[in-house]
Amino acid sequence: MSKEDVSKSGENEDVSSSKMTSKINISERQRQTLIEVVDDIAGEEVKKVTLVLLNVDEETTDEEISEKLDMRLNQVRKSLYKLYDLQLATFRRIRDKSTGWFVYFWTLHPERIDMFVEKKQQEVLEKLQSRLDYEESNMFFTCNNPECPRVIFQEAMDQNFECDRCGGRLEAFDNEQLITVLKEKIVELEEIKDKTQKIMKGEK
Ligand SMILES: [Zn+2]
Repeated sequence: MSKEDVSKSGENEDVSSSKMTSKINISERQRQTLIEVVDDIAGEEVKKVTLVLLNVDEETTDEEISEKLDMRLNQVRKSLYKLYDLQLATFRRIRDKSTGWFVYFWTLHPERIDMFVEKKQQEVLEKLQSRLDYEESNMFFTCNNPECPRVIFQEAMDQNFECDRCGGRLEAFDNEQLITVLKEKIVELEEIKDKTQKIMKGEK
């Protein structure tokens, strides 16, 4: 065996190991979350498109996806724009010189799922917090008829403490229990948020 042969086999090994996919590595947990979230908020077709994008090495066109899935092109495009709206996919477009049409090359950003989940949790938390603020900073009145709406103090005053809908007498409504439930929900969600963040950090 000559020295040349030895060095050549070494080179071959290098070539094969550098063949690794250039795709961003995501954990199995991220992959699962992505598929679940997409299925949940965007539906079956968007999920199918996502799975195709997850399995291509780099970018791909809407036409290629359409062929792979045997899905109508405008349906594929709709799904892709949905992913774009969710900030989970981006595209670049190039004008085809022979046809004059734009060709769209799509890339999935599965790693953005963490940001997405975090943002959603934050939105829910903010909604709960502002609802709690509203409950804590107002006095409420009710006619005790479950079909009639609750009103705040100023409205009750304007209505001479008579219900707008049924004419019943408006009495003070104790919202202590509601406030307690809201506070519990906020604590619960904050715990989930902390846990989610720990999982994300641990796996990155
Ligand atoms: Zn009423």
